[in-house]
Amino acid sequence: MSKFWSPRTHELNPYTPGEQPQDTQYIKLNTNENPYPPSPRAIEAMQRAVSNDLRLYSDPNANQLKQAIADFYHVDRSNVFVGNSSDEVLAHSFAGLLNHTKPLLYPDISYSFYPAYINLFAINAKKIPLDDQLQINFDDYQQENGGIVFPNPNAPTGIAVTLNSIETLAQNNPNQVILIDEAYIDFGAETAVPLTQRYPNILVVQTFSKSRALAGLRVGFAIGSPELIEGLERVKNSFNSYPLDRIAIEGASAAIADTAHFKTTCQKIIKTRETTTKALKALGFSVLESSTNFIFAKNDKIPAETLYLELKKQGVLVRYFKQPRIDNYLRITIGKEEEMTLFFEKLTIVLKTKAIPITA
Ligand SMILES: *Cc1c(COP(=O)(O)O)cnc(C)c1O
Repeated sequence: MSKFWSPRTHELNPYTPGEQPQDTQYIKLNTNENPYPPSPRAIEAMQRAVSNDLRLYSDPNANQLKQAIADFYHVDRSNVFVGNSSDEVLAHSFAGLLNHTKPLLYPDISYSFYPAYINLFAINAKKIPLDDQLQINFDDYQQENGGIVFPNPNAPTGIAVTLNSIETLAQNNPNQVILIDEAYIDFGAETAVPLTQRYPNILVVQTFSKSRALAGLRVGFAIGSPELIEGLERVKNSFNSYPLDRIAIEGASAAIADTAHFKTTCQKIIKTRETTTKALKALGFSVLESSTNFIFAKNDKIPAETLYLELKKQGVLVRYFKQPRIDNYLRITIGKEEEMTLFFEKLTIVLKTKAIPITA
């Protein structure tokens, strides 16, 4: 609290990102970063971009990057918006497309940045509970709304919805924006980008942070009808004309063009996810069906918070959410095979020392 703050600043509830310890060497399975390096072509492109040209501003429209994304998805450049991280793209979307009189609908358990934006922009919003299986049920969204937002696959559950169900949702809400946050789409779910060509109300938001291993570069994008994109440009140009620097534009353009590197690394992560899932189940965990680069799992014998704290003592960071309905789950990012082997070594130690004997 401070007398210097604007009144609204007192009321904000900022997002808390996963821990990014700068000191100890942890096995870091807590923020869904990619364990593999970015495309070597992206690295080379960025190294080339470090030059005297940095005295010049970057292209405010980042047309080179928009074109590279458009080529990858076979859409027109006018369908593409880019920003400094998908969090920024989401923020502009909440401000410019999802702030209406009727309530914005979103899942009660999903990306915890949504409530932060809702609060920041004072948006009328309504949480829709996930069903008993922790899944999104679109029947529950058949009600008055000023827009709908959800991640597909959902975070932190990892569960995906079908394209058919998204299409029906878009048909049932032709006058509202349906925003699909596809941060994890490349790890096993189907993108709604093709639907954006037929439904002017569908906006897909993606990021370079997860499947393209560039979390530190901060690049995100949206694909939708020119009408939606123009709305986003209006907000962006009222906030920051040059959200992407020259290095980011070069790096991200090269990264999205390198489909071979992208496919190989995604496949490796998917394979490790499947072996990790089996191994966790063998240790008595219940694991939700994941289409992402993380696993959401619980153990009925040891509280998740205990597991989280004990794993941390063992040098393994996973993510724990102290939040109703999911406070007995751990979110475990898929690392390299070697990291997961170490994870299981440490987990086995914790399970041995902390196992609560079942008493009659
Ligand atoms: C990681 C993540 C983002 C943010 O990605 P950035 O581009 O790094 O800001 C957005 N939505 C969800 C659901 C995420 O998990």
